[in-house]
Amino acid sequence: MTSPVVIDILGVPVHAVTMADTLALVEQYMAEPRLHQIATVNPEFVMAAQSDPDFRRVLHAADLCIPDGVGLLFAARRQGRSLPERVPGSELVYHLAEQAAQHGWPLFLLGAGAGVAAEAARLLVERYPGLVIAGTFAGSPAVEENDDIVRRINDSGAALLFVAYGAPKQDKWIARNRANLPAVRVAVGVGGSLDFVTGRSVRAPAWMQRLGLEWLHRLIREPWRWRRMLALPRFAWRVVVG
Ligand code: UDP
Repeated sequence: MTSPVVIDILGVPVHAVTMADTLALVEQYMAEPRLHQIATVNPEFVMAAQSDPDFRRVLHAADLCIPDGVGLLFAARRQGRSLPERVPGSELVYHLAEQAAQHGWPLFLLGAGAGVAAEAARLLVERYPGLVIAGTFAGSPAVEENDDIVRRINDSGAALLFVAYGAPKQDKWIARNRANLPAVRVAVGVGGSLDFVTGRSVRAPAWMQRLGLEWLHRLIREPWRWRRMLALPRFAWRVVVG
């Protein structure tokens, strides 16, 4: 597939891709010897980027910003444009692990709480036999830890990297280390996806996903996120009113 169409949503680029397009692009990226950054953009990202120029720059410099939120599909439609489907990061991690197993791309899982990355790695290998786990490490996005983490990843021989530090930290982490990870071809900020893989978080039931109510499920299960989630009505307001 050639370069995907990009749609500007409140100053943030979002690519008009399906899950199948995303996987095809990843295969293409794997053949080019440089790090490609993928961000899983949702309305919270867009609102965070309004007041964080650094984050905005990181998203503009990313190779692929997948539409991980129904709100983005709605916002695109308001502009008379179209995003073909939602591409959830929490599903992408499974597809990429499967692809990695098929192609022999060594995968490194960075971030999430203590023990989560290691457990997620074990579960993914169980699900996709043949998957090569280059390494796992929780670490932290703190600058003091940067060099040590970069060394671990480089020593591991990873070609594919998941970074689970939540947005915008994970995306900034990848951006600032683009040039430091010569063997990594694709790096994805995966948010809380490893918590889903291990069952620490549970995704909304299918009917809620269909109705675009995944955010409500998250709010009920993790009510302490309410302040961050105010981004959603603010996003809707900006999209509708301008
Ligand atoms: N996380 C981390 N270190 C940090 C901040 C977050 O490992 O300094 C992890 C956290 O444990 C979780 C993941 O980042 O597994 C995603 O966090 P959150 O749910 O806030 O991100 P979102 O999915 O909303 O992007």
